[in-house]
Amino acid sequence: MSRDVNNKYWDEELETLPREELEKRQLEDLKEIVKFAYENAPYYKRSFDEADVKPEDIQTLEDIQKFPFIDKKTQRDTQGVGSFLGELAAVPEEDVVFISTSSGSTGVPTMSPFTKKDFDEFQDTESRWFWQVGMRPNDRYVHALNFSLYVGGPDVIGAQNLGALSIWGGTLPSERLLFVLKTYQPTVIWTSPSYAWQLGEKALKSGIDPKKDLNIKKIIVAGELGGSIDATRKSIEDLWGAEVYDFYGLSDIFGACAAMCEAKDGLHIAENHILVETVDLHTGEVLKPGEVGELVFTTLRKHARPLIRFRTGDIGWIDNTPCSCGRTHGRIHINGRKDDMFIVSAVNVFPSDIEAVIREISGITGEYLIRVFEKDFTCKYSVEIEKNADNPASDKEVSELVSAALKGRIGVKPYKVVVHPDGGLDTRSEHKSKRIIDERKLDYII
Ligand SMILES: [Zn+2]
Repeated sequence: MSRDVNNKYWDEELETLPREELEKRQLEDLKEIVKFAYENAPYYKRSFDEADVKPEDIQTLEDIQKFPFIDKKTQRDTQGVGSFLGELAAVPEEDVVFISTSSGSTGVPTMSPFTKKDFDEFQDTESRWFWQVGMRPNDRYVHALNFSLYVGGPDVIGAQNLGALSIWGGTLPSERLLFVLKTYQPTVIWTSPSYAWQLGEKALKSGIDPKKDLNIKKIIVAGELGGSIDATRKSIEDLWGAEVYDFYGLSDIFGACAAMCEAKDGLHIAENHILVETVDLHTGEVLKPGEVGELVFTTLRKHARPLIRFRTGDIGWIDNTPCSCGRTHGRIHINGRKDDMFIVSAVNVFPSDIEAVIREISGITGEYLIRVFEKDFTCKYSVEIEKNADNPASDKEVSELVSAALKGRIGVKPYKVVVHPDGGLDTRSEHKSKRIIDERKLDYII
């Protein structure tokens, strides 16, 4: 590895390209991929013809706005149609070396194919993120993500390519994982934010102080929003005595498409691979940088299955202003999943807003469960929390305090706040927690 370990950039030229130059490259790749998709993927041929658009219509980046959207449903409806890879695929099966699939938590799992070149560029991007958060060849890294079908699994190769000693942890039971952390003294780990918190707590309960007995300096988190919620991130940092960095991935694209830098103010997105748009949730109208809407991605260099104007279902905003780290690629800020958002008294509420409030209040454990339900044909939410064993306040006092804090931050009061004793909530599942229960009758949701 000939890279200078003191250089903060994995690929300095690419990461610090003036935006004008970056956008020029994006336009070249956009023209090429739209043409490639049109000529090789049956779905795009049909949908572009129906929308009366042609690859030659792309003369500027904004011209992408003339093209039709696709979404998860498009993927589901076209996979397996005509060929094993389906109508969105643009290469024959013999060119594909890897497929990942989505978890299927919101329907039939969708499959994402990669050519050898797609896969190598994916791993180079992952190396870039690892380097960005300070991983170097002398680090020992534990990849504690699921390896089965999941697009985040192969990211460990990005760490190996960087030169770090990599331990393929997968979804080891906590006891085994703690044994690995104690015995091999790794310096970097990647897991989900809820699991990072629970693992730290488990360590303490089994007599291991993560700050003194372990050597973890950096924790990468993804899969849930916690890493971008300041109070949650700081709680995990305090528990471990480590820096926490949020990564954002999509099963349809890369294990991580975007990652925090040392500024921890949004996540830099690989704009050399992804053209980002933000659109109005309901009208599809394109929004300006800084305006909150649904993130729409166009993959610029993935040939196995190009995604042209893919509606991600994630709500957020893009910031193209210069970052203090010197990188010129824009930063995304994610508010939450469109599917998890609910509307109470005309206010859009994301579970992450509630989490941010809960994690800042002292005297409660930080665990929570949100119930969304209907009463008198109106959407309501209630929150269940846990009171610390040594908190002298009554349940009623705690309930009122939390209710007022939620009203203050979000703008709408919860219907009720239920207080449980420490450990009374069953939310501490391993690796990924379920903290929202939607009890609304589906036929009332438009
Ligand atoms: Zn930065």
